[in-house]
Amino acid sequence: MSVADQYERTVQQVTEACEKAGRSPHDVTIVAVSKTVGLPEIDQAASAGARNFGENRPDQLVEKHDARPDLTWHMIGNIQSRRIRDIVGRASLIHSLYEEHHADKINEVAGELGIVQNVLLEVNVSGEESKSGLEPAAVLDMLQYCEQLPHMCVRGLMTMAPRSDEEAARSAFKGLRELHAELKETLSKDQADAFVELSMGMSEDWPIAIEEGATIVRIGRAIFSEEFA
Ligand SMILES: *Cc1c(COP(=O)(O)O)cnc(C)c1O
Repeated sequence: MSVADQYERTVQQVTEACEKAGRSPHDVTIVAVSKTVGLPEIDQAASAGARNFGENRPDQLVEKHDARPDLTWHMIGNIQSRRIRDIVGRASLIHSLYEEHHADKINEVAGELGIVQNVLLEVNVSGEESKSGLEPAAVLDMLQYCEQLPHMCVRGLMTMAPRSDEEAARSAFKGLRELHAELKETLSKDQADAFVELSMGMSEDWPIAIEEGATIVRIGRAIFSEEFA
């Protein structure tokens, strides 16, 4: 199967999963995680209709964004202060913010560029030590901190579920959805209207994430790897 076929199959499966869950496929964005591939594979996915791509390293984001500026790029990897200048503006959405000093820097750079940077707050719902992100009890403070930064807009939350354990994955996704609903209650109307995204689900667990309310799924191997062909 080609990358184009694998992308089309993924769209089809996501559409079916949405219908089964009683949701509109228009409410779920597929981010094709292209971190392991180059421009030829990205072009193949784009030829099959992919528009949103995810990268986890700033150098790759810069290179691929600048080569294909008409595609929409997502930063899904760990943020480093000294690379924030490269990410802001190139990433239409930064999924992985969880530190105040990074928020300050993103706000500062976005201000210089005269833009508002969309971000998600990364939450470590499962509490695994290997995972980055805010602990759930710390998200409200971080959200309030970010909401007073004029050049940043918090669009929602992101999490990574424990691997190869369906029940643990479901519980992490459900936990993120419930936390999101609670936090939304604390926001002003304008802030709440923007705070709509749940970025959760990867190649092995996205069907569960869609059942639990994901609005963005981040799918890499199911689109780009021969393992899934
Ligand atoms: C790599 C990665 C993905 C995609 O994972 P697959 O298992 O290849 O679908 C999603 N989210 C993040 C944060 C990643 O680093």
